[in-house]
Amino acid sequence: LKTHILTALAISTLTACGGSSSSSSGTTTITNTAPTVNAGSDQSVFEGDTVQLAATFSDAQGDTVTLSWSQTSGTSVTLSSTTEDDPTFTAPDVSADETLTFQVVASDGTLSSSDEVSISVADGSVQDIIDLFEPTSLMGTPTVVSCTLSGGSSSSCLSITLASSPGNYTVGPWCPRNIIDTDLDGGIWLENDQVYNVDGSFIQNLSTFYNDSNWQMFNQSTGAINYTETAEECAAAARPDVDPSLQNHCVECLISFLDDGLSATYLIPLSPETSTTSSDTRGGIGVAYSGIRIDGSAPVDAILGAYTLAPFDDCGGHVNPAVGYHIHAITDDCLKEVSTDDAHAAEIGLALDGYSIHERLNPNGFEPTDLDSCRGHTTDGIGYHYHVAEPGTNEILPCLSGQTAN
Ligand SMILES: [Zn+2]
Ligand SMILES: [Zn+2]
Repeated sequence: LKTHILTALAISTLTACGGSSSSSSGTTTITNTAPTVNAGSDQSVFEGDTVQLAATFSDAQGDTVTLSWSQTSGTSVTLSSTTEDDPTFTAPDVSADETLTFQVVASDGTLSSSDEVSISVADGSVQDIIDLFEPTSLMGTPTVVSCTLSGGSSSSCLSITLASSPGNYTVGPWCPRNIIDTDLDGGIWLENDQVYNVDGSFIQNLSTFYNDSNWQMFNQSTGAINYTETAEECAAAARPDVDPSLQNHCVECLISFLDDGLSATYLIPLSPETSTTSSDTRGGIGVAYSGIRIDGSAPVDAILGAYTLAPFDDCGGHVNPAVGYHIHAITDDCLKEVSTDDAHAAEIGLALDGYSIHERLNPNGFEPTDLDSCRGHTTDGIGYHYHVAEPGTNEILPCLSGQTAN
């Protein structure tokens, strides 16, 4: 440390700022200390993003502090300023995920200190993620917003608003109209880890299937099946306490029953973070690139308890008045698939914690053998991701390993 020699006149101001002082023979020596500096929080960004650095600093003696930024590793970028506390730069195109580091030196003219900040640049852009979704299923342009994750940290999320139906296929049918109808006229039902076709004879045989003679969903003389015919009946049957007048009805809600504006907005963390506790999936699992909600388990016990059946279409989805079309099972050849680089199972969407969701089987026809309790695992090419369960389980993923946005 050096010391400044100062006149007595300056002391009162300096001591008020916290400087230490000592007197001897009419001159006062102030022990100078280096400024303190913090280069700001580490950030995760995408190629092409504008990144703002944010240094904070102080000087115990109140000296004028000058800053000097420099890049210490990674693809070279140009800072908007090397002397301001909050310079910006454009994240470079990278060929693989890369970390850039920057050092900021704070000097009071005599003494200095420094700090570093790391900026991880993901190989890709937010637009690349947006482009994975069926364009016709997007309401407006997705945006990047600040969000708080369930663990409490601040992060960036993709805010994506989806229309009430998928962009790449037509939904339905759900309920056959007569017990002579074929499986082309109805959807599917999930029971005992099996997928059943809801054709006319499935409805006809419900009392046998569930071993309960209270099941009587069709007219015994005409074979006509009871089903929800109006938006009012759909709403009354889709609520948890099913209206008694709709017992022994096949429940189907049409997208045309929904308000035109029904859409839902999802916040997906762009830099997934693991959670210390796995979360259940009652609030939903994620969004499929087809532009639809991937939901948790359907409340089958409540549905069956009211002697109703709410079939899923052959793509595992049905409509309710609250969230529109959503899926409870991943069946073959429905969802938009994005192939991965490394001969891994195709990607079908994003979980609400930001990790990708993949088909159940890898191209070799096998399910990965190292899945954790949430059906996730880590591979070199993809990082942490999920593989969906068999459709009959009514549980696409049992839990999420990462933090969701609040
Ligand atoms: Zn549902
Ligand atoms: Zn995998």
